[in-house]
Amino acid sequence: MNYDAIIIGGGASGLTCAIQLKRLNSSLSVLILERLSRVGKKIAVTGNGRCNISNKDLSIGRYHGENPEFCSFALSNYGTAFCTDFFYSLGVPFISEADKLFPASLQASSVVDALRFECDRLGVEIRLDTLVTDIKRDNSKYSVKTTDQTFICKSLVAAGGLLSGGEKLGCDGGLLSIIKKMGVKTVETTPSIVQIKTETDIVKQLKGIKVDANVTLKCDGKKIRTEFGETLFCDYGLSGPPVLQISRGVAKNKNKAITLSLDILPETSFNDLILMLNDRKKILSYRTADEFFTGMLNKRLGQVLLKISGFKMNEKVCDFDSPRLKKLCSNIKNFEFKVTGTGGFINSQATAGGLNTDEFNDSTMMSKGFKNLYAIGEILDIDGDCGGFNLAWAFASAFCAANSIAGDNK
Ligand SMILES: Cc1cc2nc3c(=O)[nH]c(=O)nc-3n(C[C@H](O)[C@H](O)[C@H](O)COP(=O)(O)OP(=O)(O)OC[C@H]3O[C@@H](n4cnc5c(N)ncnc54)[C@H](O)[C@@H]3O)c2cc1C
Repeated sequence: MNYDAIIIGGGASGLTCAIQLKRLNSSLSVLILERLSRVGKKIAVTGNGRCNISNKDLSIGRYHGENPEFCSFALSNYGTAFCTDFFYSLGVPFISEADKLFPASLQASSVVDALRFECDRLGVEIRLDTLVTDIKRDNSKYSVKTTDQTFICKSLVAAGGLLSGGEKLGCDGGLLSIIKKMGVKTVETTPSIVQIKTETDIVKQLKGIKVDANVTLKCDGKKIRTEFGETLFCDYGLSGPPVLQISRGVAKNKNKAITLSLDILPETSFNDLILMLNDRKKILSYRTADEFFTGMLNKRLGQVLLKISGFKMNEKVCDFDSPRLKKLCSNIKNFEFKVTGTGGFINSQATAGGLNTDEFNDSTMMSKGFKNLYAIGEILDIDGDCGGFNLAWAFASAFCAANSIAGDNK
């Protein structure tokens, strides 16, 4: 069967591209091939079911890859304002929490519904349970092989995402392999926005405790990135917004010695902390060590910090000596954990790596080597920070491709 455009993947970028394409030229025949039994399964789980759909500040610094500048054109032309208008036209106004944007319904499933309803209204054909297994280019057309049928099209859009969220969300990286086989260069894929695994002896004792900390990722002793926020101790390691935000550096530096360092009291300098603890020693001299941090730090956290600094729990506070108090300050300001890995693709919200952006045009998303082959969304080597940046990229890149295809079919 012949189509003007086939979009592989009915996710955030694929559905948006199809809608924009039909809105620009309603006479085009547009087919979405989706391997799962429903479109937008991943959108439905975003933002813990609330869908952090975009961000007010889509600066390039929030994007990563071999060449983050690649997303500059798309984001400056189809960024927050364009996306807000687009979703408003689908009946989805946005609300904000700080810089993060959400659908006013706070329901990710309603975003999927709105996209789906518009595809129906515009006559976008959607084939569900249809896995694309191969792509061939024959005489300026693409032939797209699926498990039971072959489809032909002039323009082909790869919108299959990558590995984050795992196979139940349709993501196994298979489409990346198919396009790689065609000769398009790729960048190694690694999980991003994911929990970090550490040596477990300490974190296990602190399981369930949350602290507002500055979290720093270090590779071979060099600081890679620091983020502040609520940090959660888990039996496998650490989680929470700052940990997810800096997690990209873990898999990217897997051959280096990686540590996570927590500054539990980021607003207090080391010297002020020494003074504070000495003062505490004077005021609370009658107590035992296990009661030293009562009222200042979480009980279990305080006791663990004391233990790793060499204090015994039944020792009198009046016997605390300076070297160990100094060590205690160091542990509070630099509570260090050896990193052993990440939660993997299945638990990640984004995938770093993918199709090498050098091979694509940054204003159209068209392949430089294969005319009318487009790639949009996560499958390209662009990944954003946590905060609505990845969906914003999926939409912006989809608008670029749709405009190019529509322009080519005037
Ligand atoms: C748990 C979780 C929470 C997230 N929360 C947020 C958030 O709040 N904000 C944010 O900005 N980002 C979030 N993300 C990231 C965001 O969901 C993705 O960046 C975005 O969905 C990528 O869009 P996409 O169109 O490229 O891929 P997807 O949305 O993954 O869509 C790809 C589609 O292609 C289909 N497909 C794949 N291969 C084939 C094939 N061979 N044949 C046919 N179909 C195929 C898949 O089944 C899938 O439906 C989250 C991700 C996860 C996993």
